[in-house]
Amino acid sequence: MPALKVPRREAEPVKRRLKSLGLYDGKRRPRREGGYVLLPVISDPRIEGLGYEVLPAELPLRPERQIYRNLESVLAERLSEEELKHLRRYDIIGDIAVIQIPPELEHRVEDIVWGLRKVHPFLRVIARKGFHEGAFRIRDYSIIWGERRLNTVHKENGVEIKVDLSKAFFNPRMKGERYRLAQLVRDGERILIPFAGVLPYALVIARYKRVKITAVELNREAYELGRENIELNRKKLKGEIEFIHGDVFEVLPELPTYDRVISPTPRGVDALALTLSKAEGWLHYYDFVHEADIEAFRERIIEECERQGKDCKVKIKKVSDFKPHVFKVCADVKVVD
Ligand code: SAH
Repeated sequence: MPALKVPRREAEPVKRRLKSLGLYDGKRRPRREGGYVLLPVISDPRIEGLGYEVLPAELPLRPERQIYRNLESVLAERLSEEELKHLRRYDIIGDIAVIQIPPELEHRVEDIVWGLRKVHPFLRVIARKGFHEGAFRIRDYSIIWGERRLNTVHKENGVEIKVDLSKAFFNPRMKGERYRLAQLVRDGERILIPFAGVLPYALVIARYKRVKITAVELNREAYELGRENIELNRKKLKGEIEFIHGDVFEVLPELPTYDRVISPTPRGVDALALTLSKAEGWLHYYDFVHEADIEAFRERIIEECERQGKDCKVKIKKVSDFKPHVFKVCADVKVVD
């Protein structure tokens, strides 16, 4: 991803200029390098004409909105220090806040609702969450304040995503990951996305790249929402999305191979051999792995590549912490030939 190499003294004015030209990439952070600053810019022909060196740079993604701190400081008025320690991270999805409330804070539900509303006055629903259940990965929620609904429209990476948390899986924390993938994709690619849910990956990629995506989802309600999402974003999408309702294990064997396969695999499902067999260039395979087993996970992928007669390079990236020592990881598998 490109960066502009700018002398430190000039960094601030150049950053302002880039912002006003719409060329600054606010999703990544600038980095100092000697007497220079590397400013993150988007891929655009205009960046070459600014009089500064353009170079590829791995700049860190900004953390997800740091709203958690805010809630903590607002609640410091009402909760003890001990209680504050038990406060969990929460998510904002459209106008819905979802938070996990541990037993230690059971008596503080009212205060937490008050704090969330103070930090986010636009909220219409506050729900507490349980865990993902069953094959469709739907969580169990109970509404603790506001309108009795779990459907909303969430904005992310320049697209609008209709979700219904009572009917289909959606995770706003994967925003950075979707952005990363959209940056890796090149115009013209043909992409397969099994386990596609309400289509967040497909929409974000098609928003930015002229690609042909085939997505597959089994949950009828997620599929219906996904169809609505294609319509909702139709005018903004550069790419095309074909959406198939069905079981990945039945549908994929009938499909051709693709330049890139992105598998947001549900926990406990093994789709490695199947998804790899459909990948000509790249496979991005998500899984949940204990940190002690990451090497074994890599070995397993390399073995599967060998079994399929593919020469592969595998890079494994921790995407988020799922529970202590267990991470959601993404294996970026490059099929060399
Ligand atoms: N990619 C989406 C959803 C990931 S969750 C997102 O990131 O938001 C995994 C999804 O796989 C769920 O929507 C679930 O309904 C779906 N799923 C589970 N088993 C499936 C199968 N055998 N075939 C197709 N979809 C399946």
